[in-house]
Amino acid sequence: MARIVMKFGGTSVADLDRIKNVARHVKREVDAGHEVAVVVSAMSGKTNELVGWVQGMPKVVGGDSPFYDAREYDAIVASGEQVTSGLLAIALQAMDINARSWQGWQIPIRTDNAHGAARILEIDGADIVKRMGEGQVAVIAGFQGLGPDNRVATLGRGGSDTSAVAIAAAVKADRCDIYTDVDGVYTTDPRIVPQARRLKKIAFEEMLEMASLGAKVLQVRSVELAMVFKVRTFVRSSFEDPDAPGMGDFLNPPGTLICDEEEIVEQEVVTGIAYAKDEAQISLRRLADRPGVSAAIFGPLAESHINVDMIVQNISEDGSKTDMTFTVPSGDVEKAIKVLGENKDKIGYDVVQNESGLVKVSVIGIGMRSHAGVAATAFKALADKGINIKAITTSEIKISILIDGPYAELAVRTLHSCYGLDKN
Ligand code: ASP
Ligand code: MG
Repeated sequence: MARIVMKFGGTSVADLDRIKNVARHVKREVDAGHEVAVVVSAMSGKTNELVGWVQGMPKVVGGDSPFYDAREYDAIVASGEQVTSGLLAIALQAMDINARSWQGWQIPIRTDNAHGAARILEIDGADIVKRMGEGQVAVIAGFQGLGPDNRVATLGRGGSDTSAVAIAAAVKADRCDIYTDVDGVYTTDPRIVPQARRLKKIAFEEMLEMASLGAKVLQVRSVELAMVFKVRTFVRSSFEDPDAPGMGDFLNPPGTLICDEEEIVEQEVVTGIAYAKDEAQISLRRLADRPGVSAAIFGPLAESHINVDMIVQNISEDGSKTDMTFTVPSGDVEKAIKVLGENKDKIGYDVVQNESGLVKVSVIGIGMRSHAGVAATAFKALADKGINIKAITTSEIKISILIDGPYAELAVRTLHSCYGLDKN
C-alpha cells in the first residue's frame, strides 16, 4: 500500500464524461489499496473564460493591478477548480468511493500575498492525512490557496501542477501522478519531430530545463518544487482506458518518471532538445569596457520586468570598447529599447541594434557533465545543414544556440538525430 497524489489537468476534466473517466482512474488506485488524494484543474477553457470576464469589467481606479483588483480577480478565477472538485467528488461517491472536496482555504494551503501569482508558503497536511487513513479520498481544488489576508489567492496560470507537487510533498506521498493529454515527456516536440521518443525517466534538473525552454508539459514552478522536495513525479495520460493492462502497475506505470538523477541508471549524454520561439536579440555596440557597465544595462531592464535570457559579451581588443548582446522575448523588444535609450548616458554606448523572430534551440542532458565534444557535435551538424549560429550560451547540462526563426524545425530535427535520439 502506498500514498499517491493524482492530478488531472483541464483537458482531463473537460466535460462530465471525462470527469467520470477520471473517477475510474481514481477507483483503480483505491481498489489497489492505496491512499489517494486528487488535485484537479478547472474544465479546459474555463479559466480563460473567467479571466475574460474580469477583463470585460471597467478598470478599477487605484486597483493594485492596472486592470483589476487582484483579490477579486482571484475570487473569480479560482471558481473553476471549485466546480471540478465538487463534480469529481460526486462522480466518486456514485462509484461507492468515500470522497470529499477540499478548497485551498479548507486545508489550508497558505500562500504569500502576491494575488494572481502567489507562491505556496506552507501546507497543513494533517487533516488530509487523517482522512486518507480513514479511507476517504480528498479531491482538492488546484491553483488556489489562502493569502495572509485570509483571501483566496491563485498561483499563476498552470498552477495546479504546483498545487499537486506541493501537496504530495506535504503529505509525504510516495508518488505524484500528473495526468494530462500527452502520455509522457518526449525527447523533443513530437509535432515537429515524428521520430521523438517518450522518455522512461528524466532527471529533475533536465526537466527543469525542458520546462523552462518551452516544453509545456508542466508548470516550471512545479518542477522546482519536485526537485527541492524530491517528489517522484509521473507524467501520464488520462485518456488511456483506466483499466487497461499495466495502468495500475505501481513500480512501472506507463508514462515518464521525473526523478533524482541517481535513479537513472542508463544515462544518455543528451536527453532532449527543446526550443523557444519568438526570441529577439539586442546588441549594444561600442560600449565602454569598464566596471559597472553591465549593471547599468541590466539593472534598469530588470526594474522594468524585462526577462533577459542569453547574455554574451566579448573581451575587447584593446580594453576600451566592447559589444554586448542579449536576448529578450520578442514582445519585450520595444520596451527594452526604450529603457536602454533612457539610460544611454549612464551606460555609454554608440548604437543599439535589434532583431526579432529568432529561435533558441537547446540541447539538454546531465550526461554532458562528464562528456567532452557534445557542443562540437551540434555545431558540426548545424553547419552541415547551412544553419548559421548567432549566439551560444552553455551551462553544465545545456547548450543553447540562437538561430534565425525559419530554421527552427530543421535545427531541432538535425540536433535530435545527431545525438541518436530518433526512434528506429
Ligand atoms: N486552471 C488554471 C489555468 O488554466 C490552473 C491550471 O490549469 O493548472 O491556468
Ligand atoms: Mg495545466
